Amino acid sequence: MDENEKTGESKSNNQNQLKFVQSVLSKYYSLDKNRKRIFIPNIENREFGAGIEKKIDFRHRSFSSNFEFYEFLTRTAPLYVSYSTAIYRFPSANPMEKKERLATNLVFDLDNTYESENHLEETHNDIICQYCLKRATEDANRFVKEFVLDDFGFSRQDININFSGSKGYHIHIRNESVSQLSSDSRKQLCDYAAGFQIRPFDETGNGGILIKNYQSNKRSYTVNGPKEGDFGWKKKVLSWTIDFIEKSQDKDLKEMGITRPIKIKQFMEKKGEIIKAIKNGLWEYLDIDKNFFENCVQRAISNIRVETDKPVSFDLARLIRVPNSIHGTTGLVAIEVQDLEKFEPLKDAIAFEGKGCRIYTLESIKLKMNEREFVLEKFKEESVPDYLAVLLVLKGKARILDEV
Ligand SMILES: [Zn+2]
Repeated sequence: MDENEKTGESKSNNQNQLKFVQSVLSKYYSLDKNRKRIFIPNIENREFGAGIEKKIDFRHRSFSSNFEFYEFLTRTAPLYVSYSTAIYRFPSANPMEKKERLATNLVFDLDNTYESENHLEETHNDIICQYCLKRATEDANRFVKEFVLDDFGFSRQDININFSGSKGYHIHIRNESVSQLSSDSRKQLCDYAAGFQIRPFDETGNGGILIKNYQSNKRSYTVNGPKEGDFGWKKKVLSWTIDFIEKSQDKDLKEMGITRPIKIKQFMEKKGEIIKAIKNGLWEYLDIDKNFFENCVQRAISNIRVETDKPVSFDLARLIRVPNSIHGTTGLVAIEVQDLEKFEPLKDAIAFEGKGCRIYTLESIKLKMNEREFVLEKFKEESVPDYLAVLLVLKGKARILDEV
């Protein structure tokens, strides 16, 4: 085969791959049970964007009803579809000023990418990584519990949690009380959860988790810190530290700055007393090596904080993936999650059942999906479930062989 033939073949082949993916998507969007899940409140006032080549090929589109939107999805089968967190009087007007914004939902995007970080115990998977997803799910769970519910004070009914369909989570708050929040206030909520203004230690006595006080009568310092009954970050740091002390072994204490064996021994014997002291706000005890509590606070902050993709929250004209639509780089559903502790993305967000199809692998593949382990050799014909075929085709790791 000469070069021209090759390019010709690959072009029609690419079209065939896309045709396959879109036919599966179109079927997904035609089914009643899937349509029921994609229900958008105030749909007639939302701006939409969709894309096949890119995430957004076009925007400024609007729909008069959810049904009209379902028909659009079934007919065009876009790989990506997103809608405005804002509600407009004229959602399809262009430029933006002509839309006349009426309100904006509060949305947090936890688009966590841990791919550059190493898993210490497991191997990262480039196609889709269950370990990265596990960590993203834990972060989302902590974000909802610690910040959205505890500190921002929303109730569970106020929020919708959606898997993004790829690597992270979207938290939607469609409550009236947030609809007029300024861009700046939204930014502040993100900064608060990211712990940006939280100072671990302060010698001047202004803020800071730990505060050093000079006692002139004793000519020494005491260190005061969070105590029982405190709120917000102080409460979080206190419970993290108590938990750490309760579970700590010799090596953990060493890592946290207690170096002398005699001090470690003393610490282990007096754990109960130490916990009692810090619950009373006294973060200096038994002449424990001076860095210990400071290190605890620093570690607590970095373990509790959650960084979100800020522009998604503060940009009042943002488009975000339609909940329960399909994500075009994985073929997984951006599914609504009831309980993050039980949620397993690579099982619960699977979109396509189907009878299975034949693929040709372009590299060797090993992954776990839908509780099944798949090990496929390079350059082989294989029969696989539809959800795996779609994922591999979208990732460029396999070609579909069946005629569409
Ligand atoms: Zn990974």
